[in-house]
Amino acid sequence: MLPDAVANQIAAGEVIQRPASVIKELMENAIDAGASTIQVIVKDAGRSLIQVIDDGKGMSEVDALMCWERHATSKISSADQLFSLNTKGFRGEALASIAAVAQVEMKTRQADEELGRMVCIEGSKIKEEEPCQCSKGTSFSIKNLFFNVPARRNFLKSDAVEMKHIIEEFQRLAIPHAGLAFQLYHNGNELFNLKAQSSRQRIVGTFGAKYDERLVPVEEETDIVSVMGFVGKPEFARRTRGEQYLFVNDRFIKSTYLNHAISKAFEDLLPEGSFPFYTLFLSIEPHLIDVNIHPTKTELKFQDERAIYAILRSCVRRSLGRFNIAPSLDFDQESSLNLDAYDENKTVVPPSISVNPNYNPFDSKSTQQRSSDPVEHSSSSSSDFGATVSPSPRKERDGNWKELYAITRELESQGRNSPEDLDFAAAGAALEESQKEAFKVDQHTDQALFQLHRRYVVTQIRSGMIVIDQQRAHQRILFEHYLEVLANHKGSTQQSLFPETVSLGPSDHALISALIPSLNALGFDIEEFGQNDLIVRGVPVEAGGLSAEELLERFLDSVKHDADRSGVPGKEDTAKSLAMGSSIRPGTKMESEEMRSLVDELFACEVPYFSPRGLPTIITFTLEDLDQKFKR
Ligand code: ADP
Ligand code: MG
Repeated sequence: MLPDAVANQIAAGEVIQRPASVIKELMENAIDAGASTIQVIVKDAGRSLIQVIDDGKGMSEVDALMCWERHATSKISSADQLFSLNTKGFRGEALASIAAVAQVEMKTRQADEELGRMVCIEGSKIKEEEPCQCSKGTSFSIKNLFFNVPARRNFLKSDAVEMKHIIEEFQRLAIPHAGLAFQLYHNGNELFNLKAQSSRQRIVGTFGAKYDERLVPVEEETDIVSVMGFVGKPEFARRTRGEQYLFVNDRFIKSTYLNHAISKAFEDLLPEGSFPFYTLFLSIEPHLIDVNIHPTKTELKFQDERAIYAILRSCVRRSLGRFNIAPSLDFDQESSLNLDAYDENKTVVPPSISVNPNYNPFDSKSTQQRSSDPVEHSSSSSSDFGATVSPSPRKERDGNWKELYAITRELESQGRNSPEDLDFAAAGAALEESQKEAFKVDQHTDQALFQLHRRYVVTQIRSGMIVIDQQRAHQRILFEHYLEVLANHKGSTQQSLFPETVSLGPSDHALISALIPSLNALGFDIEEFGQNDLIVRGVPVEAGGLSAEELLERFLDSVKHDADRSGVPGKEDTAKSLAMGSSIRPGTKMESEEMRSLVDELFACEVPYFSPRGLPTIITFTLEDLDQKFKR
């Protein structure tokens, strides 16, 4: 049999790989001990010293000796408690492992004891043990990590790399425990000094002040999971996957599957190859988590992974869909959008627009409702350049929201209670109201929309004004419309009186011939003819006003632009490129009806705030912004 010390050393390797693992284990213990302040002091990236000091409940005289025994945990009585909401430790291996590979001094005192206990242990052997004066709580000081395992010690990376790991572990624990104060010092320098604060403040405190304006709150309650936290606005996405934090019951986890759900929610909002910031906190009943996993690993299995996936994706998407409203409209008031207008003869009753804070752009009801709205505009008047902005058919959306709705329905039919259902209905009803009112325009408000340099549509809102990029807005509208057309196979064609023959170069022809089925599904009527020619008998109604040749040329431009990044275009790319190609251009004069319908339709979109390529469609100028410019 192996001597104990050796067995401990080997086992320690599993739990303690580097200084960062020591910090993680000691910080977790401090949190479990109910500390409110946790101090971490590190020298030489943890090689020579790691100190973790807490003001938690401390240990009794007996526990101060017992805690070094393997499996001496005081925290778990059955496997079900794994991932329970409150404790992090459960195996009673950390202290035994640390003591096997370092020189450890511990001081601990419970609040109601006068004297504390000091224990020195080295290579699993107790060297010293006596009463001592110390403050309430526990402090560990770990010296010369891996002093007796040279192979491990040599395996450590540069200080910079080891510090990176330490900071990572520190953040993974500090972020979900915003109510506790944390400090981290390295070689006498303060790296973090986080006071007890709100979750948002903690994120800002951890990542820097500039993150404050980047955060979009996410909040969702369902029967099986509640989701809280923040995602980063798409425009701040990074080229690398670093800042993505997912927590389950306050425990940091890695899940490729759930990460995918979040990425999906950001779909077509992000430039290719960029990764959104997120810190999301999931709370799940522990019994819905598979406990058959390796506890020190950060992977996790859920019993109902697909439902969690759908919920996560839906609620992130919904938050993204509405975040841009937040800064420009008052959340605490019902009626916030206000298109004042001047009328000589009438007492002006500003058409107030109620924007409900529960505004839900994914709700299908609202868009249906709007289609029967009496204030529908015909925008048959054509503009002086090419494309017309015609209202695309109102859509009944099959958004993620429906998916979520369906899940809750399903849970309900399984006999579970689902109060969220009511919320959905209420949100839907409130939305109908707000949507009906939102951007409702009558004669009195004709002047409320105007075109700036034939590029932007400007309109007043309560808190200032918004400027809409007409081209990008139209791209968004057409893109979502074309996606719908593809899903429902009902593209409408505007037949030409005389078929047009379009000649393409060989490479363009090769590119387009693979896309002809999709194009025809979108409303084209195209046939290949001869080597490099196409016969075009009709184009999608939405793209009226452009010649087939011009339209296809623009379409190809866009395909090539995107193909550089994503390879062979799929159906959705075809829809995107067609939207880019057939959208209204800068320089196009828009009649007020056209502008109205543009605004109207933009806000009916699933993702109104971004073009299909992820660029902003709307910019808000608040009165404060203007005041500032005027140095008021
Ligand atoms: P685990 O955390 O899995 O229970 P550990 O080896 O990390 O196992 O700790 C062993 C035991 O030591 C804990 O169950 C706890 O009773 C005690 N302990 C460790 N750290 C602290 C601390 N900072 N404050 C109070 N008790 C502690
Ligand atoms: Mg522990």
